[in-house]
Amino acid sequence: MWIAKQVARRSHGSDWRSYFLIACVALLAVLLAGASWSAFRSSQDRTAARERQVHTLEIMLEADRLRTAALQQIRGERGFLLTGEERFLEPFDEGRRIAADSYARLLDLSADNPAQQQRLVNMRGEFGTLNTVLDAMVEQQRSGRREEAMFYMRRGADKDAIEAILREIDALIADERSILRERTDIAQMQAEANERYQYLLAVVGALLLALSLLAVFYVRRALAAEHAARRELQRFASTDPLTSLPNRRSFMEAMARSISRSTNDPNRSLSLAIFDIDHFKRINDRFGHPAGDEVIKEVGARALAALRKRDLVCRIGGEEFAVILPQADLETARIACERMREAISSSPIVHGDAIIAFTASIGVAEYEAGDDIDHLMARTDAALYEAKTGGRNQVRLAA
Ligand code: GH3
Ligand code: MG
Ligand code: MG
Repeated sequence: MWIAKQVARRSHGSDWRSYFLIACVALLAVLLAGASWSAFRSSQDRTAARERQVHTLEIMLEADRLRTAALQQIRGERGFLLTGEERFLEPFDEGRRIAADSYARLLDLSADNPAQQQRLVNMRGEFGTLNTVLDAMVEQQRSGRREEAMFYMRRGADKDAIEAILREIDALIADERSILRERTDIAQMQAEANERYQYLLAVVGALLLALSLLAVFYVRRALAAEHAARRELQRFASTDPLTSLPNRRSFMEAMARSISRSTNDPNRSLSLAIFDIDHFKRINDRFGHPAGDEVIKEVGARALAALRKRDLVCRIGGEEFAVILPQADLETARIACERMREAISSSPIVHGDAIIAFTASIGVAEYEAGDDIDHLMARTDAALYEAKTGGRNQVRLAA
């Protein structure tokens, strides 16, 4: 709950797209956790299956060893009975030793399997019988009762005992084989389930990726719209709606920047001009306010057209304009302003039936070290005042 509130606060609680993006990221995190868990599980499953297979194979090998040892005992015993040679008792004894060792290992290996344990218990009795029979026959041979031993051998007393053991061993191996098959099947099923899960993860991941891209697309679009709206708002706040020229606020900001640049670089000249339409009140009174507006627009356009690109023409009052002339000393500014004055007064405008002529008076000052905006504007205003009092439609330079 707390986390949800924090997330909502951070995303400004505003936009469904940000929630959507957060949801996508959270889902992606869950997905990654799922994929890691699945990888961990399948590696564990694989290791366990391998260990179980190795264990089963060990039992099978040991059972095989037990069978070989039992058969070796029989072969040794028969060799001794048939030839009377003691050397045949060596494999006989070795077979018995190996059988005892192998039996103990099998008992140990199949400790987790009660059925096999039971089978081994049965086998112990059968080995006991085999050993008793074989020992008796060997003893008969040794003590010269060979006929008796051969009689037992022909009757297959030893064979019966060993066959019971071999049957038990075969059953044990068959059981282990079926356990191995079962475990292999289970491991196979687990691997397939894991594979399916991973496919599912991949599909969900791809879907999520597509959704995230969609969300990113929407967020970017929303941001672009917001950016455009902000720019429009900024433009609206800094532009004069009648002439589309920068307004007084923009002028003050641009002026501050220009003064700061010239303060930092004394070789960078800067001039300021302020001009005001002459007898504008009369134009309004005679032709009406809309006609006055047309004159203001035309004056702005003519001033702009007459100046350099880098010069900034602003409307700073009703019928009052200012021009920032970067990299212009007083003489350069005077020439530019003279050109502008001529352009403004060059021809009258036609408004309805009326033909309206107009002029403007211009004051110019150059930035001097130590000037601030107010001081520079006051000096420019003083020059404008002189232009007005000096007969209007003229350029005057600040002292
Ligand atoms: P001067 O030669 O001394 O400048 O005389 P002026 O009549 O131009 O001077 P003043 O400052 O007395 O008159 C300016 C007039 O401009 C007053 C005001 O009604 C008018 N005015 C201000 N803003 C606008 C505007 O946006 N549109 C129109 N049509 N008139 C405006
Ligand atoms: Mg005026
Ligand atoms: Mg005025």
